[in-house]
Amino acid sequence: MAEQEKTAITPTREENYPGWYQQVIKAADMAENSEVRGCMVIKPWGYAIWENIQKNLDVMFKETGHVNAYFPLFIPKSFFEKEAEHVEGFAKECAVVTHSRLEDDGKGGLKPAGKLTEELIIRPTSETIIGASFSKWVNSYRDLPLLINQWANVVRWEMRPRLFLRTTEFLWQEGHTVHATKEDALEETYRMLNVYTRFAQEYLAIPVIQGEKTESEKFPGAVSTYTFEAMMQDKKALQGGTSHFLGLNFAKASNIKFQNREGKEEYAWTTSWGVSTRLIGALIMAHGDDNGLILPPRIAPLHVVIIPIYRNKDEQNKVMDFIDNIKEKISSLRYNNEKIRFKVDNRDMRGGEKLWEWIKKGVPVRLEIGPRDVSSNSVFMGRRDKDFKEKVSVNIDDFIKNLPAFLDEIQNNIFQKALKFQIENTKKIDNKNEFYQFFTPKNKNNPEIHGGFANSHWCGSSKCEEKIKDDLKVTIRCIPLDAKQEKGKCICCGKESKKRVIFAKAY
Ligand SMILES: [Zn+2]
Repeated sequence: MAEQEKTAITPTREENYPGWYQQVIKAADMAENSEVRGCMVIKPWGYAIWENIQKNLDVMFKETGHVNAYFPLFIPKSFFEKEAEHVEGFAKECAVVTHSRLEDDGKGGLKPAGKLTEELIIRPTSETIIGASFSKWVNSYRDLPLLINQWANVVRWEMRPRLFLRTTEFLWQEGHTVHATKEDALEETYRMLNVYTRFAQEYLAIPVIQGEKTESEKFPGAVSTYTFEAMMQDKKALQGGTSHFLGLNFAKASNIKFQNREGKEEYAWTTSWGVSTRLIGALIMAHGDDNGLILPPRIAPLHVVIIPIYRNKDEQNKVMDFIDNIKEKISSLRYNNEKIRFKVDNRDMRGGEKLWEWIKKGVPVRLEIGPRDVSSNSVFMGRRDKDFKEKVSVNIDDFIKNLPAFLDEIQNNIFQKALKFQIENTKKIDNKNEFYQFFTPKNKNNPEIHGGFANSHWCGSSKCEEKIKDDLKVTIRCIPLDAKQEKGKCICCGKESKKRVIFAKAY
């Protein structure tokens, strides 16, 4: 009797996508909910992924001329109030510090005391506090451009938290720059959008669509917001990060002025841009399968895991000697300008159990090495981009010689698979009924995976945008930067439109 195919993760993606997502995080031991509702504990495997994101992005930021600095966690409320749209946009999710100490309440507990004369906001983003510094740092055109990045945590009070996707506290980077001209600031905004896009595609192996946000979806206080949007395997969109052209809004609010070449004082142009630990959520949902996480090698905490297989002391000695030899050879290899990250899993556990643990964690290459492999001078290799049963015996010298190429191939396979999925699920839709059908599940009570990206015409009216959001929970993800000028009819009201935009349900 054929054994039923069992998956390492239950429920499967098809059965219950949000449930699958949670279980993958648990099975890969990446993060967990903390005692503080809405906040997460990032465990070593999840944090190592973040470190790799951080490390590689940081290099790209520095290559484009930016330097890191650090600004306070607290923002005086008055700073926040200076930019009206900004304060309105964030008001509902701010944590506010009102007291500076605790006192004995006389009943065995503590009560807040030392009421602050001005409340402090825990940064939800740092434009205003960084602006206060910039107003002192920028005096002359010679001080520009000022190109600063900060790696930090921020707090945005979250009512419906989900690990990595929406947490009250999360980790991120925020770039803040000041320029002498509008053109320079716009160029910076696009430059960083391109840096993010390159990182998403070349490191995270996630294909993305670059575009501009509509008026209603842009960053509070920005003149324009640019985004890169990715498709998850439940066909919903995830905003990977944003780059904002802030115009003169924050310069006026924070009084960032400089003397131009003619000796005249003028306001400076600013930008800001950020990505967060949300990218880890994207990584899970873009690539994972029903056996767990699948990590692109460039971002994986480990490239290779080696599992020794033996039954007795004699076999153990032989196998471990052989592995010592492999370790030495792997140590001299490089992949993507870094040393190969590998681990020998010599824990006292069954081989099969260990193997599944690493499958669930998404390690790109697994080697099982037993006495027979030692005799034939080979390794038994499994790859996470292939079916777990598909393993091959490879001569050890060939393995060492080809390992960087294997990793490149895995990186590329993962990207191509995600790209194919995105293309297959992006549809030009010009008929309103079809549009509504596209975004309506057949099973209302237990919605199946449905929808995708609808590439449809939009007249530019926020009323149409709102109607579609109310009817279908579908939003305009972006106006693609490469959208062609093309005559058509708005998918909602039928009025003339000049461009197609991307509609989707989103995280
Ligand atoms: Zn319309």
